[in-house]
Amino acid sequence: MQLRASRVFPWNENHMQSLVTKQEVILVVDDDNYNLKILSEILSNKGYKVLIAQNGINGIETATTAIPDMILLDIKMPQIDGIEVCQRLKSNLLTQHIPIIFITGLSETESKVQGLTMGAVDYVTKPIEEEEILARINTHLTIKNLQQTLSQQNKRLEEQVQQEQLFTKIAERIRSSLELPKILSKVAQDIQQLLECDRVLITSVTDNHASLEAQVVGQGISKILDRTSTWQTLYSDREKYPQYQEGYCYSFEDINTFKDLILQKLYQQWDIQAELVIPIWLDTNQAVHQIEPEEYEISPPSKCSFLSFWGYLIIHQCNAPRQWRSEISLLQRLSTQLSIAIKQALLYQKIKTANIELQKLAVRDSLTQVFNRRYFDRQLALEWRRLTRHPSPLSLIMGDVDHFKIYNDTYGHQQGDECLRQVARAIATCTRRPADFVCRYGGEEFAIILPHTHLEGAVKVAQSINIKVQELNLKHANSPTSSIVTISLGVACTTPSRDSDAQYLIENADRSLYKAKSEGRNRLAVYQPDFNS
Ligand code: GH3
Ligand code: MG
Ligand code: MG
Repeated sequence: MQLRASRVFPWNENHMQSLVTKQEVILVVDDDNYNLKILSEILSNKGYKVLIAQNGINGIETATTAIPDMILLDIKMPQIDGIEVCQRLKSNLLTQHIPIIFITGLSETESKVQGLTMGAVDYVTKPIEEEEILARINTHLTIKNLQQTLSQQNKRLEEQVQQEQLFTKIAERIRSSLELPKILSKVAQDIQQLLECDRVLITSVTDNHASLEAQVVGQGISKILDRTSTWQTLYSDREKYPQYQEGYCYSFEDINTFKDLILQKLYQQWDIQAELVIPIWLDTNQAVHQIEPEEYEISPPSKCSFLSFWGYLIIHQCNAPRQWRSEISLLQRLSTQLSIAIKQALLYQKIKTANIELQKLAVRDSLTQVFNRRYFDRQLALEWRRLTRHPSPLSLIMGDVDHFKIYNDTYGHQQGDECLRQVARAIATCTRRPADFVCRYGGEEFAIILPHTHLEGAVKVAQSINIKVQELNLKHANSPTSSIVTISLGVACTTPSRDSDAQYLIENADRSLYKAKSEGRNRLAVYQPDFNS
C-alpha cells in the first residue's frame, strides 16, 4: 500500500478570486415593452445575463427568488410603482443588498430624490443612452464586488484573529502542565472544538507500533480502537515514514475519490471521509514544511534529517468531505508546540524516575536492599507518635547473625556480604503486612518494626525468621553454635505513650537479644521489664 501526500497549498485568495468570475445577472423591471427590449439587448450584448419583469409584483418575486447582482427599476408603473418596489426590496433581508438603479423620465425630479433616499444607488433618464447605462452599471457592480470582497476579507480576518486567540490559549494550555497524558487529552479536546471536526487523535509510534495517546470525538461519532489491525495498518505503516520525515502532511478531502479500494474500505470502517495527518517531531527547530511528492522526487529537501519522529496528530471528518485549508498551518504550529511540550514532559518523567531512584537510594541499604538505619530511626519515631495518638501495640525484633566474625574469618568478607544479603531476603519473606518494615540496623544486625502487633504475634514472626535463616542452609563450619548460619532474635513489645519514647522499645529489644545470645544463640528471647529488672 502506498500512501501519497496530497497537495496542500496555502490558501491563496487571489488565486481563488480569479476562479470565481461568474456571469453577472441583471433584473430589468419595466412596464414598457420597448424599453425592456432595448435594455435586454444592450445588456446581453455586454455578456450580462438578463431577467425581466413587466410589473412591480413580478419584479419583487423574481428579485427574491433569483437574487440578481443588480436591478434596473422603472419608476412609473401601474399597480405598484418603482418607489414602492424599491422600498419593499430594501426592507427584505434577502434583497436589501442588491444595488438598484432607477429609470426615470426627464421631468421626474421628485421621484429621483425619493428613490435615492429609499436606498437606490443611482438613476438614469429616458431615453436610454447605451454608453451611459453601461458605465453606471459597471461602476455600481464594481463597487458591489469591492464591498463584497472587503466584507469577505473582514470575515476572514476576524476568523484569523479568533483562531490566533484560540491558538494562544491552546499553546498556553500545552505549557501549563508537565503530565503528558493530561496535555495530550486537553489539546485534542481544544482542537476538536476549535476546528469543529469529528475526531482528533494523537498517537505515538515506536518500533513500528502505533499507540493511541489521546482521542476526542464529536457527538455521535464512534471512537477508534487502537488494538485493531486496521489501526496498525493505517498508522504504523513504515512505508509512510520517509515521506513524513521529509516534512509532509498527509491529507485527503474526500474518501470517494480514492482509487485504492482496499484502503478506502479501511477508512470507511470508521466512517472517515476526510483526513489530515500532521507528523510530530521531537525537535522542531527546523520547520516542517509542505511539499508535493513529485517535487520531492526532483529535489529531495535536506531539512528535518536530525529530527526524531514521535507520532502524529490526526484529524478526521466523518459526516462529510472536508477541504483542509487554514487548518493545516494552524495544526503544524500546534504540533510544534506539542513537540516542545512532549519533550519537556519526557524530560520531566526522566527527572521524576531519577528522583524516585534517588529516594530509594536514600532509604535503602545498598548491600541488602532492605531499609537503612536512617529510615529505621525515622519510621520507628513516626510509628511511636502515631500509635500514641491511636493506642495500639508496637513490636520490635532485633536479629543478630551468630558468630559472624568467625564466618568472615572463615569464608572471607565477600562471602560474608553474600550471606548478609541472603539473610536479609529470608527475613523479608517473614513479614506480611504492608506496615511491617525490615531494616539493617548495622553490621550483621537487623531490626523488624511491627506496628499493631502484640507480643505473641512478634514472637511468631521471630520464630519464623529463625527457621527461615536455618533453611538457607548456609555452611558455617567454624561456628560454636551450629554447622550452618543461624540468627539470634530479641523481641520487645509495648503500647506507645507520651511517658516514654521509641528508645525504650529499642533498649528492650536489645536486652532480649542479649538474653538470646547468652542463653545459647540460634533462638529468640523476650525481655520483660517487669520480670527481668
Ligand atoms: P555474636 O554471635 O555474638 O553476634 O558474634 P559475632 O561475631 O556475630 O559478633 P561481632 O559483633 O563480634 O562481630 C560482627 C561481625 O560482623 C564483625 C564484622 O566484621 C562483621 N560485619 C559487620 N558488617 C559487615 C558487612 O557489611 N559485611 C561483612 N562481610 N561483615 C560485616
Ligand atoms: Mg553484632
Ligand atoms: Mg553477631
